[in-house]
Amino acid sequence: MKRFVLFLILFVFALHAQSNVDQRVRTLLSQMTLEEKVGQMTQITLSALSDSHDDLHFTNHLNMNKLKQAVVDYHVGSILNTGGSANSARNWREMITTIQKLAVNQTRLGIPVIYGIDAIHGANYIKEGTLFPQSIAMAATWNRELVRKAASITAKEIKAVGIPWDFNPVLGLARQPLWPRFWETFGEDSYAASEFARAYVQGMEENTNVAACMKHYLGYSVPRSGHDRTPAELSERTVREWYLPPFQAAVEAGVKTVMINSSEISGVPLHASYHYLTEVLRNELGFTGLAVSDWADIENLYKREKVAANRREAVKMAVMAGVDMSMVPMDFSFYDTLLELVKDGEVPVSRIDQAVARILRVKFQLGLFEHPFPPKTDLKEIGSKQNWQVSLDAAREAIILLKNTDNILPLKKGQKILVCGPSADLHQSLNGGWTYTWQGNREELFPKNQQTIVQAIRERAGKENVLYTKGTSFTSVVKSNEVYHKAHKADVIVACMGEPAYCETPGNINDLNLSDAQVQFIHDLKLTRKPIVLVLTEGRPRIIRKIEKRAKAVVLANLPGPMGSRAISEVLFGDINPSGRLPFTYPRYANDLVPYDHKTSAETKPVTFNPQYPFGAGLSYTNFEYSHLQLDRDTLHPNETLTVSVQVKNTGKRAGKHTVFLFLSDKVRSVTPPVKQLKGFDKIELKAGESKTVRFMITPQDLTFIGRNNRRISEAGQFDIHVGNVSASFEYNE
Ligand code: BGC
Repeated sequence: MKRFVLFLILFVFALHAQSNVDQRVRTLLSQMTLEEKVGQMTQITLSALSDSHDDLHFTNHLNMNKLKQAVVDYHVGSILNTGGSANSARNWREMITTIQKLAVNQTRLGIPVIYGIDAIHGANYIKEGTLFPQSIAMAATWNRELVRKAASITAKEIKAVGIPWDFNPVLGLARQPLWPRFWETFGEDSYAASEFARAYVQGMEENTNVAACMKHYLGYSVPRSGHDRTPAELSERTVREWYLPPFQAAVEAGVKTVMINSSEISGVPLHASYHYLTEVLRNELGFTGLAVSDWADIENLYKREKVAANRREAVKMAVMAGVDMSMVPMDFSFYDTLLELVKDGEVPVSRIDQAVARILRVKFQLGLFEHPFPPKTDLKEIGSKQNWQVSLDAAREAIILLKNTDNILPLKKGQKILVCGPSADLHQSLNGGWTYTWQGNREELFPKNQQTIVQAIRERAGKENVLYTKGTSFTSVVKSNEVYHKAHKADVIVACMGEPAYCETPGNINDLNLSDAQVQFIHDLKLTRKPIVLVLTEGRPRIIRKIEKRAKAVVLANLPGPMGSRAISEVLFGDINPSGRLPFTYPRYANDLVPYDHKTSAETKPVTFNPQYPFGAGLSYTNFEYSHLQLDRDTLHPNETLTVSVQVKNTGKRAGKHTVFLFLSDKVRSVTPPVKQLKGFDKIELKAGESKTVRFMITPQDLTFIGRNNRRISEAGQFDIHVGNVSASFEYNE
């Protein structure tokens, strides 16, 4: 009863706050001129408002004339980006204060600017910020709480310098491994991405006054060519079955903003899709927040996509489809054009009012009118010890041990180790893009206290036990005998391979195979007959088939962030028991890119589904056994819940963390069923010899799918549950 009363009070309070915000939005809107409204819908990038500067000094200089023109003359509602490279926290505070002073004191209505930034793996555009593993590595932890904490810390750090809007999380699915933004996602599975979406949005938006931005809505992550910003070919059913649920989960978690997919679904650019931007996003999902375009993508409707003949058509098309704010980002062309369109009666004022109301509502919800300036909190809270500890915790759980023949790992203390390979002494390979710069590849910008892999191994193993030589670059083998000479002196070789940093289109590739130079290097190293441990830091699964068999152990770190070097060394020496598991299918062949939740036909012999490592792969230094899989009923009916329990035992000699996955198979249905689909996961920790019972709840909603009519339906029938190597069946009866 007490809880009910409390809930009721909170509910009434929330309703009141909401209607209060709506009232303030209506009042403000009624005072605004058309120019002020269109200005709110305009977003400009920082470099267009700055003097050119040497970005090595982390000091961006605003150009007051340009800034005044934007904020005062054009009434712009939003500014974004970092202006080249990360700025210091102090510089950020000064800039945001200057911008807001102008907006609040020198404009007629004093509407604050909403500043947005790409804080993709932590506060990566604040020089002193905490950086976390990239999302693909966060997903490998299978730890919702870590995702939530990382988002919450990111929000607090950007808010501390006065930035209330983060263009993250990326909620596309990693089902096209060539795509250069594979690593910005939470993996290939729709259910897992939905769970992490929820955790991220909650972490970012709860108690922080920061808005998350789910992106890039919708279907961006699966370009047919694998190249960034190129078409996806998807049926309505596929979109709804796989790609929509993570966005739906974010909406349910209360996400305040959305960014639109730069490209198209089957011939229709998303920026021009009334169907997806209004009918699905607003009318079906119930999203009420603000929709921002991606970079120059309204311009792209006529320049690149060719669905509009000119800027006028493009602006009208995008605004009428449902885009509320244009990331223009360099000039005021959007403002001028939209103003003309409204004056000519081609875009109704009612649509402008709707867009501006959404923008103002977010500004009110974030408390920007009351607190437009950066808070006076201590800047030392940015990049604090506690925050970096969470980054280390995440990196430790993100490392995936994929192969460990003859228990070559953990390495023994005192062994002589040759560390080599192009990523052994690089920071960028641990971090990927969105790290101090967009491309993340400026080694000189990494703070000196961050370690590379070889530095971390030296610290752990003792300098005297570690030999180092790069041996090869990513693209060409360095011809030298040094590496073989050193290999002969070593007991074991740790070869650090993968990719340099990249982001978006510059990261496009035509071949998923690991570069020839790296493959050749491992072949040559093998001649030394020393055992090889392959350590991979990469943003997408480069094909390693030809060298994998030459390695005794494979450690996949993906992009574990700055703490990844330490976590990798701890895993190599057994100070940490690895617990990461693959959030995607690691392909064996460059032309065989089939996800785990494929249809039965993908398993037809002789060329059957045979990835290098399956979805969920990941070893430990201990063993886990599954038994006693029990369902609390044989038949499930609507409005009932099926409880699945399973016993997991640590049968090895040391404690370990372990993710338990629950997969469901629908035996027969009217739309070909995937062989299995993830419907639950839980990460547990077990001491040596300890057992735990893990429980999952299955509801009829978990059995639904997108039917032939493109609507979510359920059908009666037989279902199988698989947890580890144990299975059980039940029936669903309507
Ligand atoms: C990217 C977005 C990003 C935006 C602003 C675009 O190029 O696609 O993900 O948020 O730039 O930096």
